[in-house]
Amino acid sequence: MSFSFDNSYARDLEGLYVPWKAAEVPAPKLIRLNHALAEELGLEAKALDSSEGAQIFSGNKLPEGAVTIAQAYAGHQFGGFSPQLGDGRALLLGEVIDKQGKRRDIAFKGSGRTPFSRGGDGKAALGPVLREYLIGEAMFALGIPTTRALAAVTTGEFVRRERNLPGAVLTRVAASHIRVGTFQFAAARGDEALLAKLANYVIDRHYPEIKGADKPYFGLLRALCERQAALIARWMNVGFIHGVMNTDNMTLSGETIDYGPCAFMDRYDPKTVFSSIDEYGRYAYVNQPPIANWNLARFAEALLPLLIAESGGEQDKAVEQAMEILGDFQSVYEQHWLTGMRGKLGLTREEEGDLELAQEFLAGMEGQGVDFTLAFRRLADAAEAADASREGWLRQLYADDKKLDAWLPRWRARINAEGLDPAQRAQAMRSVNPLYIPRNHKVEEALDAAVELGNYEPFERLLAVLQQPFSDKPERAAYAEPATAEASAGYRTFCGT
Ligand code: AMP
Ligand code: MG
Repeated sequence: MSFSFDNSYARDLEGLYVPWKAAEVPAPKLIRLNHALAEELGLEAKALDSSEGAQIFSGNKLPEGAVTIAQAYAGHQFGGFSPQLGDGRALLLGEVIDKQGKRRDIAFKGSGRTPFSRGGDGKAALGPVLREYLIGEAMFALGIPTTRALAAVTTGEFVRRERNLPGAVLTRVAASHIRVGTFQFAAARGDEALLAKLANYVIDRHYPEIKGADKPYFGLLRALCERQAALIARWMNVGFIHGVMNTDNMTLSGETIDYGPCAFMDRYDPKTVFSSIDEYGRYAYVNQPPIANWNLARFAEALLPLLIAESGGEQDKAVEQAMEILGDFQSVYEQHWLTGMRGKLGLTREEEGDLELAQEFLAGMEGQGVDFTLAFRRLADAAEAADASREGWLRQLYADDKKLDAWLPRWRARINAEGLDPAQRAQAMRSVNPLYIPRNHKVEEALDAAVELGNYEPFERLLAVLQQPFSDKPERAAYAEPATAEASAGYRTFCGT
């Protein structure tokens, strides 16, 4: 089997990786191949959906042209800096140019120890692998930039966690795996030449439009701020909580990466945290935009030597200009967020007061036990009629629906003034407000069946539902339901090791 690899990272960025081999595993079994994605990459999906595919996606038998490397990176984890993290349980196989001409990384997760493993075993357990598969594909179907799962295999060995669990390997596809932490790695070594090489590589690969600009490194900082602002706005619009927004988990491409303790918010509460290790709520739902801004400040710091060079050697000038760019993050983010919210609320025109209207809808949900996802779906139901006759379903979500008494008439006056056909507006709202998100209890149910019983049916069914998040299918009603308040209150997620 050969993939048409073209491994530019290995070729161009010596010093930012070590060549390394995947561990051999005893009895690989292919659980799932992502046919659509394989086709997109120009791979022979049918041929790969086989025992040979299992050998390939476990790392036992590499496709021709693969040059497996462990990438080096650093990172701030929960605010503390580690100068060396790196791929401790991952390997990059190489890059392929997909059918649209886009360069994509193909990488393993769970392929054994590397020089960056520190205390870890380099392995992945089946549960977290399936979780990353599900949530990544859900995000993709929601139209949110994300890395994706190409394949999942079980290895035939157990990995030791709090107990023995079936081992697995995920094959992941990404625009690249370059992180803010990759820049921090070069910067922490004081290697300005390497830093410049990395920055130029990223501009070539992800931001070709700023190549040849007057100050390309400032351009890179601004472009990343914009891409991340857009990404985080999308997360916030669907209630996604990443859970571990360390700088090593923030990509230069603007894709969501590293689905560990992530989860979707059910009842609306800005302070929602699911991750068991996020004791102080650093990565709570509401903190995601400011944390992204904080991470981008760490990126600017890493980039500083290059920014100083672009400022004629004047550090103060460089810092001032970088601060200005970072200072714009909040307003750029807010614009993206508001654009998303306009769609969610069914507003087709931009008007003054839209931001307040959106914020007040959310404020009204607080403390009411209102399911965030269903609220917008039922608002679409309410939009079906020009009057208040279809508002009952939405009101039912609120512990005290008087919270809606002031807001709904304002919203209605605002949409009616646009003069669009109600049915058309409701349809437009349903096309941006998902009905099916990866409900935490459904994800756990799917993972449990796979891990405890080797039963992949719940996983397959859930995946099929998540691939069509917007279209209402009566037989899928159970997938739209939130968990009970008790189940939801106690829900905790864990880092995906
Ligand atoms: P994460 O929290 O998944 O972003 O991972 C943070 C760091 O821990 C990365 O450098 C990972 O490679 C490393 N890591 C996580 N799990 C393992 C493991 N089981 N074995 C070795 N390294 C790991
Ligand atoms: Mg990570």
